Amino acid sequence: MSLPADTSDYSASPLRRIQARIAAAARNAGRDPTEVTLTAVSKQQPWAAIEPLLLAGQTVFGENRVQEALGRWGQRRGGLELRLIGPLQTNKTRDAVALFDVIETLDRERLAEHLAAEAQRRGQSPRLYIQVNTGEEARKAGVSPLDADAFIGLCRNRYDLPIDGLMCIPPEDQPPAPHFALLAKIAERNGLTRLSMGMSADFEIAIRHGATSVRVGSALFGPRPPLS
Ligand SMILES: *Cc1c(COP(=O)(O)O)cnc(C)c1O
Repeated sequence: MSLPADTSDYSASPLRRIQARIAAAARNAGRDPTEVTLTAVSKQQPWAAIEPLLLAGQTVFGENRVQEALGRWGQRRGGLELRLIGPLQTNKTRDAVALFDVIETLDRERLAEHLAAEAQRRGQSPRLYIQVNTGEEARKAGVSPLDADAFIGLCRNRYDLPIDGLMCIPPEDQPPAPHFALLAKIAERNGLTRLSMGMSADFEIAIRHGATSVRVGSALFGPRPPLS
């Protein structure tokens, strides 16, 4: 079966449309499209919005709150990969480690300590990404780019944690490309190959800069309903 020549035709579902845009962005960057994972950000979405994606074969979902994610995914885990993309409080570490396959928001030593203790207790750990606050925004989580190398070393050496990659959320009021480039540079000099970067508005730019996973919410599901 071949694709229709006009790919705008190929847009019956938002999932297929985003997949096609990811593949095109990868190819334009000279990359293999299978190197880029789509994390469908299901936070705040009703089950009726999520189910069609599951039926269409989407398996990777991102959530930003532990309790909300437990309510949504605690009972239906088979074959899925769940990623925590929001801040993690230390008192939720146990629940988070039990539920998530990947935690993308490791950003301070106290959390590393809790994650290590929990991994020890369970005999396994989720894959971990360190969040870098590339814009050094006071209100945003993440380690400062200047502290990133030391923090990566600390997590690996003192806490023996499986650090898989880096994650960032660029400032809303700036072009994202320099932030993606900075994250890629920090990863490269630390021997990390995974980069979680790019959201609905900028995932194609992130892919150009080496994103291996993009976190897409509203472009897949439409606008999020307000928090209840
Ligand atoms: C909500 C959220 C997203 C998805 O944002 P969209 O703009 O809706 O694609 C991505 N990353 C993080 C960390 C988020 O909290």
